[in-house]
This record gives sequence, C-alpha cells and structure tokens, in this order.
Amino acid sequence: QSPWANFTQAPPDPIIGLTEAYQNDDFPQKVNVGVGAYRDDSGMPFVLPVVRQVEKEITAEELDHEYSGIAGCPSFVDLAMKFAYGEDCVPLLEGRIAGVQTLSGTGGLRVFGEVLNSFGHTEIHIPNPSWGNHVPIFRNAGLDVKTYSYYNKENSSLDFEGMIADIKNIPEGKCILLHVCAHNPTGMDPQIDQWKEISSVVKEKKLLPFFDCAYQGFASGDARIDAASLRLFVEDGHKVALVQSFSKNMGLYGQRVGALSVVADSQEEAQRVLSQLKVHIRPSYSNPPRHGARIVQKILSDEQKTDAFVEQCSSMAGRINSMRATLKQTLEDLGSSRDWSHITKQIGMFAYSGLTKEEVTVLREKHHIYCTLDGRISMAGVTSKNVKYIAEAIHDVSK
Ligand code: PMP
Repeated sequence: QSPWANFTQAPPDPIIGLTEAYQNDDFPQKVNVGVGAYRDDSGMPFVLPVVRQVEKEITAEELDHEYSGIAGCPSFVDLAMKFAYGEDCVPLLEGRIAGVQTLSGTGGLRVFGEVLNSFGHTEIHIPNPSWGNHVPIFRNAGLDVKTYSYYNKENSSLDFEGMIADIKNIPEGKCILLHVCAHNPTGMDPQIDQWKEISSVVKEKKLLPFFDCAYQGFASGDARIDAASLRLFVEDGHKVALVQSFSKNMGLYGQRVGALSVVADSQEEAQRVLSQLKVHIRPSYSNPPRHGARIVQKILSDEQKTDAFVEQCSSMAGRINSMRATLKQTLEDLGSSRDWSHITKQIGMFAYSGLTKEEVTVLREKHHIYCTLDGRISMAGVTSKNVKYIAEAIHDVSK
C-alpha cells in the first residue's frame, strides 16, 4: 500500500487550470483569455524594453548569488514604498513604515494573513467578488474569509450603497481587504469621493484596511492616479497594510517580485512590526529571490528608466483600452441585444462580461475561448487579430 494511496485527485485550479486546458486544445483559432498576463498585439508575452535594458546591465555587473536578507533587498523595498505611497508621504518620511520584499503579491498576502492570525485576528473581509485566490490564501493563513457587497450584477456597476452598508456591519477592529485600483475581477473602482466615504466608515468602525495593489500604473496608465485610494487613506491617518505586486506593471510575473508594508505609529513600532514580519518569513521560505528585485531597483532608482517604464506601462494600458472599445463596438455592430457599455467603463486587465456560467461553457466548448466561469475575460489576451472572432463567439452565446 503506497503512503499516497488516499491522496484524492484535486480539481484543477480555476484560473491556472484554464491555461492547461487551452494548451491541450488543438483548434487553430483557440483563445486564452483566462490568466491575467499581458500579451502584445500579436498575442505574445511582452518584456518591457526597459526591463531588457537593465537585465543587460545586471548581467554585465557580474553580481554574486548570495542570500538576500529575510526582508529582501532594502533599497528595492524603499523604492517600492515610494512608488506606492508617494515620495512626500508623511509616515514614509518619518521612517514609520515597516516594509519587506515578498514573493510577489500572493506571497505578501499570505505572510500578512499569517501575521494577522498570530496576533488574534480570526477573520478578514474581502469584496464580493474578489480575486479567486484571496479566499484560499487567507483560509490557509488561518482566517475565516467573509465578504462585503461590491458589485451589482444586474446593472454591471459598483454597488456602492451595499458596500457602505456592509462595511458598517463589520465588527469593530476587523481587517478589511481593499483593492487599490483595477479591481479584479470586476474592473470597477470607487470614485475618489466614494473612497473618502469608505475611509471615514472604515475609521468610524476602527477597521484595519489592508490594501492589495496588483495593478498600479495599469489602470489609468498613471501610477500616481492609480494609488490615489491608498494615499487618501494614509493621509486620513489610517495605519494601513499594503501588498504590492510588480507582476503586471513591469511584466515580471515569473520573477515573483513584490513588497509588503505596514504603516505604524512610530519608528519604534515599525521596527517591532518588521521583526514580526521576518519571524513569519524565515520558516516559510527564508528569504526572497534576488533577480526581480534588482530589476525593479534599477528602474525605480533612475529617473530616465522610471520615465521609460511609465511610458511602456501606459502603452500596455492603452492597448487594453483600445481592445475594450473595439470589442464593445464589434458586439454592437453584430446587432447584440445586450448593453456592453460596462466593457469600456471597467479598467485594468479584465472585462467582467456578465456572461453566465452556461454561456462561458459554450464559449469554451464550441468556440475554444477560455475565460473563467464567472465571465471574467482577460483583455490582455484580446488582440486586433482575434477581437472579431471573440466578439462573434460572445454574440453567438448571448444573442
Ligand atoms: N492581487 C490581485 C488582486 C491580483 O489580481 C493578483 C494577480 N492576479 C495578485 C494579487 C497576485 O499576483 P502576483 O502573486 O503575481 O503578484
């Protein structure tokens, strides 16, 4: 009897599993709009030219491969925090933000989930819907995952009133997860006035705001505008926690480069928080990988390279937005009876199409188009070559 005989077959991952199914499909016009990874207009993975440039510089420097510290590369962490919070952020200038490098956004979410759990938190409140991986990440960190209203499926828009009402019902002191921008999967963000109201309710209820920032620069094309929600909360005096990912905005997906930071009351408190983050990282993966952090560090420490990055990131956002407009227009030209205006109102990587599970299944089985069962379409996989095919297929399943 094998010791693994009782290991049952686990279901494929709802998002990554799609790529596997797509790879096994030999239909020539098949389309992968499942995973949120940017593609250029020829459908190919895109390496930012500025990333290519600094990689050459890094190679030429013949650096060693010593271990990083538990908290990763300190200059990378400083630059990442400046990028998110802004150079003039008061807690940052006062040295009271604790920060560590993480295994991208996912790793930072998990580490902070564990830290919360070890300091008495038993639950976390995430939007409904949210990125699919939030639930298992926090569950595995020992937290009970609860949801607050976020989206109105009936009219494909933000359910702001429901959101505020639900946040008011969260017990005092609990942790609430907020998406900084380009909410995944809905692509619908609160407006700045709405963020002000959210901030004041969060303050009233003494909640702990935990921001997930996976798309800074990718939403509007302007990294400052995209960070407005986070910066507003910090200005309002919240002691926020933040997870940042450089997967999308710098196209560094497989390098696993991100940061976790926590705004504290004082430098001394920040030091204590930092020590606890490290206590959780050490027995988990010991220390983070170096290469991706070196790339980001080189870009963000140089004005010209940062400008190049901003321009290249905004061109990715621009291509996605032009595909949104074409997809919507093509659906209208085909005579669709549905209102598709939400496709161009949404921002970031995804179009939350409103297609039902059944429609998504037909899309996959009949048209070989792979998107998640909730109808989320990765706009990054839509190109000027396949947009018509995708629109015709969506029309066919949704007439
Ligand atoms: N948070 C959100 C909202 C995301 O959409 C993603 C990526 N899909 C992540 C976190 C984490 O991505 P990564 O681990 O590659 O940084």
